[in-house]
Amino acid sequence: MIAGIHRPAVVLVNLSAIKQNIENEKKHLQKGQKIFAVVKANGYGHGAVEVAKTAVKVGVSGFCVAILDEALELRKADIVKPILVLGVVSPEYAPLAAVNDISLTAPNLEWLKEASKYLQKENLKLKIHLAIDSGMGRIGFNEDQEFVEANKLLENNNSFFIEGMFAHFASADSADDTYFKHQVEKFKHMKSLLTVKPKWIHVDNTAASIFDKDIHSDLVRFGIGIYGLNPSSNPTSPDLKASIELKPALSFVSELTHVKTIHKGDGVGYGSTFVADKDTIIGTVPVGYADGWIRKFQGFKVKVGEHYCPIVGRICMDQFMVKMSEKMPVGTKVTLISDNPNDPNNIKAAADYVDTIHYEVACLLSDRLPREYYEE
Ligand SMILES: *Cc1c(COP(=O)(O)O)cnc(C)c1O
Repeated sequence: MIAGIHRPAVVLVNLSAIKQNIENEKKHLQKGQKIFAVVKANGYGHGAVEVAKTAVKVGVSGFCVAILDEALELRKADIVKPILVLGVVSPEYAPLAAVNDISLTAPNLEWLKEASKYLQKENLKLKIHLAIDSGMGRIGFNEDQEFVEANKLLENNNSFFIEGMFAHFASADSADDTYFKHQVEKFKHMKSLLTVKPKWIHVDNTAASIFDKDIHSDLVRFGIGIYGLNPSSNPTSPDLKASIELKPALSFVSELTHVKTIHKGDGVGYGSTFVADKDTIIGTVPVGYADGWIRKFQGFKVKVGEHYCPIVGRICMDQFMVKMSEKMPVGTKVTLISDNPNDPNNIKAAADYVDTIHYEVACLLSDRLPREYYEE
């Protein structure tokens, strides 16, 4: 999808906020702990390459991404720090990862065997992180016997350098620690089965780190915190208190492209879900669900000039309409998402409104929206 640079709709990213968030996390680290910045899904919608370059400047030790292509994108952009792909990459691409010095996740024994065949053929050595399924139920070793066999395979092999062993928490953002503790115990047990020594043992995501869960992790896979958002974003319960200051980096702005008055009986949008009962001022904004601004935002209030105006009518693929209390000219600034957490259109409020989490709102912002970067 091509980015619309001739349309007034843009995702603004405050790189100073990104720097500050990482600096704040660095001060909070336990002794010897490192940060791997998680920049998967185009840096949670903020732009992976720019975020990664900024993160390098403030001294992160490496990166995590979800898929191999995201790792290759960073290498192409001259990022030379370690990069770990957190998802499962087909073993046939193990050589491609190895030649680009990209670390892959080893999710099970079968994968190790297969990858080893491909690597041996080309006489290559791959960095791997052993994934443990300690209760996330997603990927990783969960049976003792299989893990012991994997350990045996790794004890005498030339295909792999064992860079890490990790697990992922299902509920580090929850006030109830019961399942979290169960996961910690399972991970400890699996670790006790190993005779090989991974360089880094890691379990912390943002939540585990900033809600002070008191576990040891050689590195923090710091994701949502980079972007200044509290991971415990849940519409039904208050946020847990983060032990570091977080400053949101993203805002989403556009402009009015059309302003008019409609009259009693006139409808707005597909299906005419809004019908004027009197003279009504309607503004049009050139953003729609193809930009990731989903139809569920109908009724949400965006800031037009200095006023908060509700979205009326169904959101179209490429445009939506707002009801305004006074006439404002074409070109008036429209803020769909504010980076100020005190504004009613902050990203958490937007996520709550469409019954999801801010991770999803940010990731959905599509490639049609250019990202613009600034520093304060
Ligand atoms: C996405 C992800 C993270 C980062 O999580 P945040 O909540 O954004 O900090 C860490 N580890 C794994 C395995 C992930 O998939």
